[in-house]
Order: sequence, then structure tokens, then C-alpha cells
Amino acid sequence: MNNIKKLYIETFGCQMNVNDSATMVSLLKDLDYEQTDSAAGADLILLNTCCIRAKAEQKVFSELGRLKSLKNEKKKVLLGVGGCIAQQEGDRLLKRIPYLDLVVGTHSLHLLPDMVRAAEKGERLTRNDFLDPETRLDLFPRKEAAGGVARFVTVIQGCDNFCSYCIVPFVRGREVSRRSGEILQEIRELSEIGVREVTLLGQNVNSYGIKSPEEPSFAELLRRVAEIDGIERIRFTTSHPKDISPDLIACFAELPRLCSHIHLPAQSGSDRVLKAMNRGYTRREYLDRIAALKIARPDITITGDMIVGFPGETAEDFEETLSLMEEVGFADLFSFVFSARPETAAAKLADTLTRKERQERLDSLQHRQHIMTRERNNSLQGSIQEVLVEGVSRRGDQLFGRTSGNRITNISADPSLIGKLVTVRIVEAFQNSLLGEIV
Ligand code: SF4
Repeated sequence: MNNIKKLYIETFGCQMNVNDSATMVSLLKDLDYEQTDSAAGADLILLNTCCIRAKAEQKVFSELGRLKSLKNEKKKVLLGVGGCIAQQEGDRLLKRIPYLDLVVGTHSLHLLPDMVRAAEKGERLTRNDFLDPETRLDLFPRKEAAGGVARFVTVIQGCDNFCSYCIVPFVRGREVSRRSGEILQEIRELSEIGVREVTLLGQNVNSYGIKSPEEPSFAELLRRVAEIDGIERIRFTTSHPKDISPDLIACFAELPRLCSHIHLPAQSGSDRVLKAMNRGYTRREYLDRIAALKIARPDITITGDMIVGFPGETAEDFEETLSLMEEVGFADLFSFVFSARPETAAAKLADTLTRKERQERLDSLQHRQHIMTRERNNSLQGSIQEVLVEGVSRRGDQLFGRTSGNRITNISADPSLIGKLVTVRIVEAFQNSLLGEIV
């Protein structure tokens, strides 16, 4: 008899959630749940949620509304919410959504199998306690050894920075650096099963080890990863500009396996706004770090995040943000309108802009970035790039991979090249990707 049950999991938000979803899938395999890509055919539906902005939260609630009819049709399907909204709302979610079966917070993933067992017996339950650092160290998520060429490896969780607009420290807890021995062991095992690129992951990887004197610094961790046979590329995300040490910048000059890309969120180009955001660096300091990175690795690709319309942001502040963008020459920028989040310090600040003004600033910034991104992609036309081939492209007739600078590149080539580093000439540039041919 086939006891396999279907699990549909929908992930909202950042890479950390993508990673947590993979952990949930892996944990539920022991309960005979197999992942499906259709909610309609599922026995268990999990929404792994994000609350970084009000819009992200609204999306989750409208998805929950949509799933109500499915729950009505198919009484036995179980519905669960995980991630940041689960951590923030806990039991309130069960009260607000009577057809919801379980709520699993960011520190409780390990409890998911028991929770699902209980929900299968008709219980409705929430687990969203924060764990102490020691317990968290023992529960660091670890991926099962399944295929793929490029993988994420969690090195640090949580955040101690309390940027005034950010809800992350409230829903992910304080920073905990994973034991370096475990990280290196996981990467060795990934290498043995054919993984060629690892991205070291955390809310703020640059502060890895700062609170754990027995662990190496982040720069030293990178050096140790670079020694692992078979790992040809290393990336990391996300970085906090205030914690980028000269030693870490030196790694870009020293370690050829470290990819030529850094995602370094600036958030604003105005000192006044950066201070109100509690970011811990000035415009000058940010630009100095960018300059040092460009010296260490002249072809480095820089991407970032920017918030527009922070309370009190004047037209001059906004102009400074635009000028910082130009000065850095971001290859891509994730930009958002400020969104007040509960519990954060910025939520108490008086708003000085109308919604229309904020949107106009965002549109103007995104328009400039759109042009800069296209120009940068165009400048790569004719260049020779190394691409790690990751799989078959969405269109199905090409392969895709990424350059060291993290540009998606499609190539017409034999699928036997998947998993290999190939040298390509860029023959055409588009807004979001490049077209290459094997040299
Ligand atoms: S560094 Fe700031 S923006 Fe990033 S997760 Fe921590 S509090 Fe949020």
C-alpha cells in the first residue's frame, strides 16, 4: 500500500525562508510526506511566511483566504503557517483563522514532525518559543545530501543590530554563529555529492564568530572553506557594511574561489537617514568600503538594498541616495518604500511624506537603476566569463548558470556540462540575463 502523502509548501520572503522550507521538506520526509507543486492535490499545505514589509504580510493573508475554499472542499487537508509571521503572531493566528491547523515559529522547525502528527489527529497547535543560544547551536538546520550544483549553507542565524525599521531581530532572535567544524563538515559532504558552489548564509554573515571567541572570524572561515576540495566557488549573503573588516575585503584579493560579487545593503545615501535607521555607518564609510572592495577585486559586481521614504527623508536626503547609487554603480538594487513594522523604533516616527510622494521617489530610483543595470549588462557583451552550469533553462532548450559576478547566463550546450565551470563569450545582454556561447 502506498502511504505517501503530499506536501505543498509556499515560501515567501528571503533566502533564509527558502532554506528553512528545504529543512521542513526534509524533516517531513520521515512522516512520508513528499513535495508536490500543487496545493489542490496536497494533504498538508505549509506557508513559510515573511513580515519584513506590510505588503509581504498582506500577501500571506490573502493566500490564506484563497486556501479556505480548498480546506472546505477537502476537509482532511492540513494547513500550517511557518516563518516570521508565525513567530510574530503565534496563537493569535489560530484564533484569527479558524481553519488553520498549526503555527510553527522560526525557532521551532525541529518540532514540525511532532506537530504534524498531532494535527493529523485533529489537534490545533502553536509552537513559537524562542530558544536559548545553546539549544539553537545544537539545532542548526542541516540540509539532506540531495543533488544540485549550488547550495546554501547556514552559518549564522538571527540579528543583534536592531536597525530601526527592521523586524528581523524580533522574529528571528539574537545572533548565533554555527560551529565552524559543523559548517566545514557539511560543505565537505556537499562537495562529495557534486556540489561545486556554496553560498554561506545568514542575516549578517560578517559578524560570524564575533560573539564566539572559540570560532574563527568570517574571513578565516572563508579561507577554510576555500581549502575544501571540489568547492570551486564561494559566495556569501547578506553582509552588513559596518561589519566588513579589512581582512574580509582582503579575501577578495586572496581567494580566487571567492566569487566577484557582494551584496552590500546601503539602505540610504544620507547620513541623517542612516543615523535614524541606526545603521552604524556613514555614507563616507560605506563608499570607502566599496572603494576598498574595488581595489581588492577590480571586476567585483556590487548589488544592494535601498529604502525610500523613511520617516523624515527630505528631497535632499533622497538626492543623496541617488548620488550614492551612481557613485557605487550597483549592478542591481532591491528597493522598497519604507513600511512601518510593529515593535520597531521607526514605527513610532512621524511620517512626513504622502504615499504618492514615496511612490514617486521609488519609481524615480527604480527607473535610474533599470538603466544602470542594462548599461552594466551591455558592458559585458563580448567579454569572456566563467559560468558554473546549474541546469536546464526555463525555456527548456538552453542551459543556464551564473557568472562569478552573479549574472544569469543562458547558453546552448550539451546537458553533460551541468555541474561544470565553462568559459563563455557573452554574445548578447538583456535586462535580467546574458546570452553566452562556449569558447
Ligand atoms: S542588519 Fe538590520 S536590516 Fe539586517 S536583519 Fe539585522 S536589523 Fe534587519
